[in-house]
Amino acid sequence: MGRLAGKVALISGGARGQGAAETQLFVREGAAVVFGDVLDDEGKKVETAIRASGGQATYVHLNVTQELDWRAAVATAVQTYGKLDVLVNNAGILLRAKIEDTSEADWDRIMAVNVKGVFLGTKCAIPAMRQAGGGSIVNISSTAGLVGSPGETAAYTATKGAVRLFTKATAIQHANDHIRCNSVHPGPIATDMIKDMLDNRAAWEQRLRRLPMGRVGTADEVAYGVLYLASDEASYVTGSELVIDGGTTAE
Ligand code: NAD
Repeated sequence: MGRLAGKVALISGGARGQGAAETQLFVREGAAVVFGDVLDDEGKKVETAIRASGGQATYVHLNVTQELDWRAAVATAVQTYGKLDVLVNNAGILLRAKIEDTSEADWDRIMAVNVKGVFLGTKCAIPAMRQAGGGSIVNISSTAGLVGSPGETAAYTATKGAVRLFTKATAIQHANDHIRCNSVHPGPIATDMIKDMLDNRAAWEQRLRRLPMGRVGTADEVAYGVLYLASDEASYVTGSELVIDGGTTAE
């Protein structure tokens, strides 16, 4: 029996990176997973691979800034797999720009994806979770949601700080519904999101010097933390922050 046996999960931003790793791990641990993204070709490939190995997963087009997309994704989970137990608000975008070089449109876009997206996912999932008798919401923040980032990522940092506290508000408001809500704070993880930095050897070597473990993390290393918070093993854990950063924020 897997650690998520009998659970139904919905994961945003699941076509690649950490979201795809979480989707695959959740399926291996016995969950049925609906996962959504705006990258439909990549998402369909992940769905095909999971189904070929006998897992239960359904890809849906889900732009997290659109409430109607979220409603349809939750309905897909309930209609296809019978209920919704777990939501992972994983989709996110990064913007590298000095504050003075950040346009109002850039600000609105990153706020829409990283903050409004988490709000809409939570809002749309709660009725289905209440119907299921409870659930677990895992919001992917960042170490940038805990401390001011050394990079030129002020807008991103603002979004991830908002996710951190929205998580705690959700945890308090829905404790009586048996819906838990926690945030995860990854340090630098080798995905397409930071490919620009990984490809820039000089910038990367400078960054590595500030990482106590001297290396970047993997998508699977985050996915295992998300798995714990999603599972019943974390039944008394709500409103908490799980830092997965190789010690980066420890100093
Ligand atoms: P990624 O870029 O590989 O994956 C992000 C996914 O979100 C992509 O599949 C993308 O298409 C999707 N997405 C973007 N906008 C969307 C939208 N409007 N609707 C639906 N999906 C959308 O990067 P990742 O590292 O896998 O990022 C996952 C999460 O982890 C993000 O919230 C990110 O901010 C966070 N994070 C990443 C790092 C890192 O170093 N990679 C560190 C800390 C936190």
